[in-house]
This record gives sequence, C-alpha cells and structure tokens, in this order.
Amino acid sequence: MLTDMLIGARFEKGTETEEAILNPRTGETVLNLPEASQAQIDAAVAAAEKAFATWSRTTPGQRSGYLLKIAERIEAEAEEFAKLEALNCGKPINAVLNDEIPAIVDCYRFFAGAVRTMPGVVAGEYLPGFTSMVRRDPIGIVASIAPWNYPLMMMAWKLAPAIGGGNTVVFKPSEQTPLTALKLATILADVLPEGVVNVVLGRGESVGNALINHPKINMISITGDVATGKKVLQAAAKSVKRTHLELGGKAPVIVFDDADLDAVVGGLRAFGYYNAGQDCTAACRIYAGGKIYEKLVADLSSAVSTIRYNQSDDTENEIGPLISRRQRDRVASFVERASELKHIDITTGGKPGEGGGFYYQPTVVAGALQEDEIVRREVFGPVVSVTRFSDVDEAVAWANDSDYGLASSVWTKDVSRAMATAARLQYGCTWINTHFMLTNEMPHGGVKQSGYGKDMSLYALEDYTAVRHVMVAHG
Ligand code: NAD
Repeated sequence: MLTDMLIGARFEKGTETEEAILNPRTGETVLNLPEASQAQIDAAVAAAEKAFATWSRTTPGQRSGYLLKIAERIEAEAEEFAKLEALNCGKPINAVLNDEIPAIVDCYRFFAGAVRTMPGVVAGEYLPGFTSMVRRDPIGIVASIAPWNYPLMMMAWKLAPAIGGGNTVVFKPSEQTPLTALKLATILADVLPEGVVNVVLGRGESVGNALINHPKINMISITGDVATGKKVLQAAAKSVKRTHLELGGKAPVIVFDDADLDAVVGGLRAFGYYNAGQDCTAACRIYAGGKIYEKLVADLSSAVSTIRYNQSDDTENEIGPLISRRQRDRVASFVERASELKHIDITTGGKPGEGGGFYYQPTVVAGALQEDEIVRREVFGPVVSVTRFSDVDEAVAWANDSDYGLASSVWTKDVSRAMATAARLQYGCTWINTHFMLTNEMPHGGVKQSGYGKDMSLYALEDYTAVRHVMVAHG
C-alpha cells in the first residue's frame, strides 16, 4: 500500500504523529500513516510556488491536455481506485465503480474543455484613447483541504478547476481517508510538471492549520464542517487570503399532497441514505403535507427497512457503514435524544448495526417538530426525519428556518406550485421531483452557513481565477 506524500517531485513519508487508517466495515487498522512536519509543509508550499512561475503561463490548451491525461489514467485504473476507496470508506465497491469514478473522470474532462472556453466580457474603448480588457488570471497557490465522505471526488472537484485555472496546489486529504489521494499522487507526479500538485497528510488541527495560516498560500479551498469553515475564515483574515467554503447541509424536502408518492418514496430511499447519509445534500429533512403524511411515513418506513447493508457479498450492499466509531456514536446519540421525545416515533431502524464495523441502521424519525434537534442539526448518517406541515407558507418558512443553505427539493405534480416554491427557497440548489442529482456542467455550493463558492461548472473556474483589468493607452 502506498504511504508516501508528494512534495515537488519527491515521494516521502511524514515524520510526525501517526494516524491509524481504519476499515470502517470491521473497525480494524489497515495501516498507520505519519503526518507531515512543518518543514515538509513548507517544502510542499515552496514546490507549488516554484511551479506556479511556469504553470501559470501555460496555455489553456496545454492545461487541458494535462487534465485529459489525468482523466484517462484514473479511468484506466478505476478498479484499483474503487477498491481503495471502498476499503478506506466502507462504501460498496459498485457504488464507487459505477457512480463515483465516472463522475470523477468526467470532472477532469469537463474542466479540460471548460478551461479552453472560459468566457470573458468584451474589450473596448471605455475612455477615449484607451483600450481596456478584462483578463481572468490564476490566483496563485491554493491550499485544498478535503473531507472524508467522497475523498477522490472532492479531490477532483478541487484540483481540476484549480490547476485548470493555472494555479498550483498543496492538497490535504482527510486524515481518515488518504488512500486514494496517495494513489492519485503517483499519477499526478507522472503526468504533471513538478510541484503543480503536492499532497501532504495530517490532521486538521496540525497540518490543516499550518496550511491555512501559511503566509505563502493565496487561497484556501475547504470542504468540511461549518466550525472548520469558521476557523479558515479567521486564519484567512490575517493575511486576506481568498476562501472557497463548501460546508455542511440539512436539505429540506417539501412533499405536497399531490406528489407522486411512489416517486417520493423511491427518491427518499435512494437520496436520503446514499453513502449512509454522509452527504451534505442528503434528503434528510422531510416536510410532508397533511393528507400524504401518514402514507408517506408508512411506505417510506417499509421501503427503508429493505435497504441492504453489512452483507458478506458486497454486491448485495446498497450502503456501507459510517466512517468511524465516533461518527456512528454521534449519529446514535442524535437518534437516542430524538426518541426520548413523546411526539417522536422511530418507525424503522434506530440502532447501531451488528458486528465490529461502524454500521447504523437506516432510520426514519416520524412526528418530528420544527424545533427538534433532529430537524435542525446535521446528523450526517442514515437518518431521515418527517414533519407534517399545514400549508405552503409554513413549509417554506420551516425549510428556510435553518443555518444551512446547500440543497433542497420540492415534490408536486403541479408545475406552477413547484416553480413558485423553488423561487422562495434559500438554497444553493433546489431539485423538483428529484434530489441529489449533480452534473459537472452545473454549479454546486451553498448560501448561509453552508458556505460560498461553487464546485463544478464554469462558476468554479471563476472562483479559482481573479478578474483583472488591463488598459492600453493608444498614445
Ligand atoms: P471536517 O471539517 O472535520 O474536516 C474537513 C477537512 O478539514 C479535513 O481534511 C480536516 O483535516 C480539515 N480540518 C479540520 N480542522 C481544520 C483546521 N482547524 N484547519 C484546517 N483544516 C482543518 O469535516 P469532515 O468531518 O471531514 O466532513 C464532514 C463535513 O463536511 C460535514 O459537515 C459535511 O456536510 C461537509 N461536506 C460539505 C460538502 C459541500 O459540498 N458543502 C461536501 C461534503 C462534505
């Protein structure tokens, strides 16, 4: 198994505290990985700085070629990547192979095209005797910090627009899920010029903290918890670094009485529990109309009770365990506190799974009220709450009554009602009669405490480049 970080052209092990990398299906240690020292972090930043001088002057076409090569190599080694991701995260291997890897490969390919067609406003003579133009130029050295729920995909979302835009990167995977980043590092070292991407390992409070406070870093891109995002902002304030924050979510799902119930139940079974609910867009906060409520709870509970997990034949598994014992216990404590409330009914699940792995039963929490913790806080596990609403104003008010603003959905057969409701929701994304569907052409990102800045789409390229005005005097 690969254990070396990538610093410039060198592969080397960290020299500091070791982190145990676990198999979440069993709780067993796969290997121990030491984290980077301050000197190694400085060396990675220095390598990125050196590379920036030439990388930032490559043409979009040249950078496009590099991105296409990365896509090709990931595709060629899809099985090995999927095995490693499944081992490190506990995901069913087919979910990685069939859902994640194609989206990851497509991300590099999308940005390979997008970078060659980045739009700009026209140039012209805005003062007599002077021609002005607007350029979009790279920002510099980006510290990219990723979470554990989709390690290789978050790496793609961060690297492709950053290097496509002409920046160089020091990337830190989550300390819990570094394995696919280490594998990709060997490909990046092969494909890219030295120092364009560097990969360092370590915990947030040590290596992450050193990166976000590093004087040579120009931009911090982080996907993680809201509390982590706030720390990034504090660090960035010291030297006015750019920030790109993809933080948590608590997606409301408004189901009107006229919705297609089978589609709703099928959708929630899939989109509320995918990746064991460890997804910032998970359809986890259901608001159901008064007439549909009872049947929705009954049908959803019986559908959710059939979700397959912890099977010895992995092809049978629809979801995996949670990432860690800590995360499993956190999810369990949310459900325990909810179940102590008289108005709550746990209609299916509600307990940790069996065995040494970090499993939690797919759970439906019915009868939840707007003020309940289970409705307000991000659980990040296979737990969906259902709340009854009486009219559209109440549903919209409750949906928007959240610190988060990442994703939402509206389910109804009435297209006017769908559009009118979508227009009132304060979320980075609203799906109608679906949920969770992402495509590399479209932006993903939040409002409110879910952060700002977009992943995927041309908007990400905008985020990773700076608008500049260049003016020529005609003399
Ligand atoms: P986390 O905030 O604990 O960690 C995310 C990354 O930040 C890790 O690499 C970690 O090492 C690093 N980090 C932690 N503290 C740091 C610090 N003080 N300085 C610098 N870096 C630090 O989050 P997590 O538990 O890994 O991931 C789950 C969270 O991520 C959830 O809240 C989830 O909603 C969010 N998430 C958001 C999106 C999105 O697109 N908005 C996508 C996936 C996950």
